[in-house]
Amino acid sequence: MKFLSKYLIYLLLVGSCAPSPKTEQAPIQKKASTHTIYALNANEIRKGEETIAIVGATLIDGTGVAPIENSLVIIKNDKIDFVGMVDERKVEDDATVIDAQGKTLLPGLIDAHFHGGENAEMSTLFLKKGVTSVRDPGAWNASYDSARNSGRPIPRLFLTGPHIDVYPPAYPKNSYLIQDAEEGRIAVNRFADEGATAIKAYFRLSTEMIAAICDEAHKRGIPVTAHLEITNAIDAVKAGLDGVEHVTSFGTALLSLEEAEIYKNKVMADNAARRSGRYEVWNGLDMDNNPLADSLVQLLVEHKTFVSPTLAIFERQSDRGDSVTVNGFKNMLKFVGKAYKAGAKVVVGSHTWVPYADSGDAYYREMELLHKAGLSNMQTIVAATLENARFFRIDSRLGSIEKGKIADLILLKENPLENLEAMKTVEQVILNGVLCEF
Ligand SMILES: [Zn+2]
Repeated sequence: MKFLSKYLIYLLLVGSCAPSPKTEQAPIQKKASTHTIYALNANEIRKGEETIAIVGATLIDGTGVAPIENSLVIIKNDKIDFVGMVDERKVEDDATVIDAQGKTLLPGLIDAHFHGGENAEMSTLFLKKGVTSVRDPGAWNASYDSARNSGRPIPRLFLTGPHIDVYPPAYPKNSYLIQDAEEGRIAVNRFADEGATAIKAYFRLSTEMIAAICDEAHKRGIPVTAHLEITNAIDAVKAGLDGVEHVTSFGTALLSLEEAEIYKNKVMADNAARRSGRYEVWNGLDMDNNPLADSLVQLLVEHKTFVSPTLAIFERQSDRGDSVTVNGFKNMLKFVGKAYKAGAKVVVGSHTWVPYADSGDAYYREMELLHKAGLSNMQTIVAATLENARFFRIDSRLGSIEKGKIADLILLKENPLENLEAMKTVEQVILNGVLCEF
């Protein structure tokens, strides 16, 4: 066993987990009843070819079980080969050994709501911060070309293609317009053929369109997630959605029919009316005694619908908001807490650019807000890792530190079970069994 010197030589020889020069071909998903979900850039990520032993860390494996102190994790090539205590297995002589005493080892973080396509450096920055897999819920695949061709390491990219929307689109640049349910089915197949690993439905779609899109996507083995806002969440969840993006998507379902119609008409007339309108909606809701909210939460639990609240993008504190936005946001937090407590599947989606986090730190802010909503530190970590892997349908290969899984791990200087601030102390990122160098 050679310690640090071997590790440094390794870095010099292998370089980073940047794209391997040989494999530019992305896997194209062909029509099939089900398919295994791979990142669009799966073949471009360098594969580990070494044995790496991470010795002595406090291990939080992503499943929610109690941490293992003084752990040993051995990576062989791109896979996790051993997970246990330090004295339970001998470390091979040729292993690169990382002395992780006093540090904390976690699975790579998974981001359900990443918007980094337009900024080629953002993907690398997120990887450096510990986010090893991202899903962009609504962008053309080509928007990631510059990041993929940059030569810099980037996370696994799970893309949906553009939002499926109807005229007039909320975001013309990233929309694919359909006119009826049948066109929704065609869109799903086109996107899946191009490597989409989820489908994103936008908020003007009818329930009938959402139902057709879900039906077609499920035939292709991929989940559907949606931004609802003016589509009633109860109808949309019953139509078969696998996930809902943004806590604000639940607002109209919590209003009276009349109030919901007024809000809907305002947004139909002017897309920008959502910006203040959503806070007015949430400010007016009673979250402590609200049978509508209780039954909506129950529906999410029964349908096992994933909720990616993206609280950080909506966060308003008194320094940047009036009483309506600040109180509206408090009610959003309460709703997420209520949903989680009832058993809904809550995950971490950063939205990438948010008001109360430095560039690259949106993911950490979302974790802090989920904690504020009522999740424990451990529950927040599970929401960031294995629960998100389930949402992506990649949990058989990613999302936790277990034998046989792909070696995406992060090493932190401090322990986030003590304080989530520790998430900001990522020292080492391992992607696909390779130590990333930035
Ligand atoms: Zn978004």
